[in-house]
Order: sequence, then structure tokens, then C-alpha cells
Amino acid sequence: MTIERVGVVGAGQMGNGIAHVFSLAGYEVVMTDVSAEALDKAVALIERNLDRQVAKGAATEDEKASAMGRISTTPTLTDLGSCDLIIEAATEREAVKTAIFEELVPHLAPHTILTSNTSSISITRLASRTDRPEKFMGFHFMNPVPVMQLVELIRGIATDEETFRACFEVVERLGKTAATSEDFPAFIVNRILMPMINEAVYTLYEGVGSVSSIDTSLKLGANHPMGPLELADFIGLDTCLAIMNVLHDGLADTKYRPCPLLTKYVEAGWLGRKTKRGFYDYRGETPVPTR
Ligand code: NAD
Repeated sequence: MTIERVGVVGAGQMGNGIAHVFSLAGYEVVMTDVSAEALDKAVALIERNLDRQVAKGAATEDEKASAMGRISTTPTLTDLGSCDLIIEAATEREAVKTAIFEELVPHLAPHTILTSNTSSISITRLASRTDRPEKFMGFHFMNPVPVMQLVELIRGIATDEETFRACFEVVERLGKTAATSEDFPAFIVNRILMPMINEAVYTLYEGVGSVSSIDTSLKLGANHPMGPLELADFIGLDTCLAIMNVLHDGLADTKYRPCPLLTKYVEAGWLGRKTKRGFYDYRGETPVPTR
């Protein structure tokens, strides 16, 4: 199966990164969002990020110009009907994703592969709400997409081999590395990463260490490039809590219970970098621990 034209639904932090790497790899990209502002911002951000790659020598001016020329945007979801591959990267709410697939499916060619970039929602359940569960997969990029090497590929119970192979080849053409995960809550990366972050929050909650001692311990003692609390702020504490809830509900094991202190930060609206406060306060020159 030849994939040339790729539709990206949702132009937020993940959607713009996905459009960026696909266009740079030579794919035609059509991006849509319910927010016209998000589409404009995404195109401007892709251009800035490509400029940065040119400055570092990772791409040429010509490659940047051709990549920008291959990206188009539309406010109309059904304009993505002519794409060979769809990557849904809209807000992490099942009802939003299901509504997108329901509207899009009648406009797709029979060969079109449908995928979701969801961090946690069941691929099998999302697939069952479409007309093509055998051509449906999880295509999970990491944030920031142009920088992170891994893509998790998740088969739903019905995904066929041809669909999996086609997505695997796409990952290779992007110059990234695929890891395959079965469709269980939070897949592989977040199944392992989130309980570690949650345990770091428990370590803080129980007074075993302060924010800086916990982050310094994991950076210097386990050679992690970022401490777990710093990383939680980068991901977004609301996202961390949502994933812990998916693990807790989906696996029905108390070892995944979200730390009450994580819940408290989210209830305060202290969601990390995006709201300028989380385990660190980012409102000044340098981040200051909040505990
Ligand atoms: P985001 O909030 O930055 O962007 C979501 C975008 O979806 C917004 O621009 C919003 O306007 C748009 N949207 C909402 N409803 C829509 C609809 N009906 N049609 C079209 N567009 C719609 O979120 P994000 O961080 O980019 O996350 C997107 C997806 O990627 C989620 O499923 C999330 O779980 C997943 N993901 C996120 C990360 C991360 O670190 N943030 C990492 C991997 C995967």
C-alpha cells in the first residue's frame, strides 16, 4: 500500500509536530482543527521549528521550503477524505475522538488507514466505532515530535497485518523507531513512566524528600536527563493524572492509585509549565520548587 497523503486532525502541540515530521519526510499533509486560530498558530510554529533545524544544519532552506509547500490546512474535517492515512491528534476525550471518526468515515476511500495518537484510550474500543476496525491502529508519537525518536504502534484486536506493515514502513520513512505495544491501558511508555512519576509525587507527599532532592536524586543517581517532577511539569499534571486514572480503572489494581498530592495540584490549576506553576514555579527567571 502506498501512503502519500496524510491527514492530521487536531493542530495542538502534537498535531503540529506530526505535520512537521511528515512534511519534512516528503508526505503531503492536510491538517484540520475546530479552531482556526490553532491552525494558524500550528503553521507559524512549524515554520519557526523548521528555521531552527536549518540554523542547526539539520535541514536545508530548500527542504524547509518544500516541506512548508506540502502542508495545507482546512477547517473542514471531511476535506481529509482523499488521504491515505489519517492521524487523529485531537483533545484526549473519547467522545471528541469518536465524533471525529463518525463524521469522517463516510468520506474515506476503502483503503484509508485510520489511526489515533491517543496516550491512553483503548484502540480496540475506538476502532469498534468505525467501519474499519481492521484498518485502525494506535500511532503514538512522543512530545516534542520532531525531537523524540520513538513511535509506539498499537494494534487493536482486529488490526490486520497489512495495516500494521504500512504504519511500520511510515515510521521508517520518518527516520524514527517503532516499538510495538499490545492494546492495554497506557501502552508501554506511559505504563512504566507514569507510575514512576506518581511514586515521585508520593515520595514528596510523604515527606521523604523535597522537590529538588527528588529530582537531583533521579538525575544524578539514575542518570535520567530530567527529574520525575520536572518531567511531570513538562508533560502536564492533568495529563499525568488522566493517565494514572486510566491505569487505575483499566487494570483495577490499587498500585496505580493516583497520589492525592497530584490530584491537589490539578485541582489548584497548577498543571506545570503550561500554566506556569506545578512542582516548580516558572513565573520568574529560573524555576523555583513549590515544595
Ligand atoms: P492540545 O490540547 O495541544 O491539542 C488538541 C487540539 O485538538 C486543539 O487544537 C483542539 O482545538 C483540537 N480539537 C479539539 N476537538 C477537535 C475536533 N473535534 N476536531 C478537530 N480538532 C479538534 O493536545 P495535545 O497535547 O496535542 O494532545 C493531542 C492528542 O495527543 C491527545 O490524544 C493526547 O493524549 C495525545 N498525546 C499527547 C502527548 C503530550 O505530551 N501532550 C504525547 C503523546 C500523545
